[in-house]
Amino acid sequence: MERFVFCSRGCEHWGALGAAGVLLRAAADGDPRYLLVLRHPRSHQGGTWALPGGALHPGESALAGALREAEEELGPLPAGVSREATPAHEYVDDHGEWSYTTLVLNVVDTFEPAAANWETAGWRWVSASQALTLPLLPALRAAWAALTGTG
Ligand SMILES: [Zn+2]
Repeated sequence: MERFVFCSRGCEHWGALGAAGVLLRAAADGDPRYLLVLRHPRSHQGGTWALPGGALHPGESALAGALREAEEELGPLPAGVSREATPAHEYVDDHGEWSYTTLVLNVVDTFEPAAANWETAGWRWVSASQALTLPLLPALRAAWAALTGTG
């Protein structure tokens, strides 16, 4: 499952069953903050800011897979961020044979992740506009306005 595949658009993707990530949103006084992670320079598309997430395993829902990957990268997540959570928004980047599902999940407040995984070189809570000043993963930049409702 954890391998590169080519979709019908001709791009190369990680994960034979598709992939998923979580966009954690802390609504600080109506000016939400979003958690982004900096990919380690030696990882795929390293040096860019992205969402915690990764390739789905067989039989796994997008939410379950995204949370499993997020906990690998960030350590334990706040209690409300679980497989029972109802995403505030779900966004699917559908490439035919391959898709990336982003689940937007609300958290009560920002928190400091443990960032235990070598792939995670750093993390930041940013506003929707601050995010656009960072070198975002291109697919995330393309989806950012839709994900944050700022389009
Ligand atoms: Zn593709």
